Amino acid sequence: MNERGRADDRTVFERDGYACVHCEAEGDGPADLDVYRIDDDGDAPANRELLASVCERCHGTLRGDPPGWRRRLGTDPADGLLALLREVTTTQGSAVADVADFAATATGGVDADDEAARRRYLDDRRRVRLALAVVDRHLAGAGAETVDLGDDVALAFDAVRDEARTLQDLLVEVVVLAETAVAAAGRCHACLEPVVGDPGSGGLDRCDACGTAVREASEWTADDGEVSLAALYGTVNDRLQEASATTEVLTKRTGQLAELLTGRS
Ligand SMILES: [Zn+2]
Ligand SMILES: [Zn+2]
Repeated sequence: MNERGRADDRTVFERDGYACVHCEAEGDGPADLDVYRIDDDGDAPANRELLASVCERCHGTLRGDPPGWRRRLGTDPADGLLALLREVTTTQGSAVADVADFAATATGGVDADDEAARRRYLDDRRRVRLALAVVDRHLAGAGAETVDLGDDVALAFDAVRDEARTLQDLLVEVVVLAETAVAAAGRCHACLEPVVGDPGSGGLDRCDACGTAVREASEWTADDGEVSLAALYGTVNDRLQEASATTEVLTKRTGQLAELLTGRS
């Protein structure tokens, strides 16, 4: 998205240790790293906290380039589907753990004046958001309709994809709730700068510092006008439990599909 080698990109690469925030592939700079904007918020300027270093491969996936497994579908459909399963399983598997960690950090109260706590929240947030964006891309491209491997494979594949989408929706919801806890504490969820206004009033608009639309906390506001953090935390925990149960079902169904496919590749 940015011109190659801009000074701002260098500061983003430096912060991220010259490695892809998603897959951790290392790079030297603009020749093999790019800067990706994690918040798709059209009006927000490119604040550094909204930008993450990504390798060429991950950037390609995020841009919507056909992933490797899609090309393999044409020559060896079973092999291509297995490769897709591996991508989604690996990415979602680590996303479940990362989202749970992020939710714990965010709902535990982020001390935005403590540099280490600040960095941890912002780094975790970029990693989690990138992982979810990558899964989105793979799932968006995952249609079994072009692959004729028989009805049993098609059914098993649909079951896996539905479960993976359910898991993805739950994880996105947890991240938004965790960010809402930060907004309720008066900070911008994207850059941690203070936001002016009352998070319970529904009257907030955009963060002055980064331009991101401020998360709405009014849904969690009790009758006395105070944000009910207990209710918010309760919902975060419920969703995390649902995510864990969904992961179990997904693992089982993925195993069944992989078994069907390995017989055919
Ligand atoms: Zn990468
Ligand atoms: Zn902000």
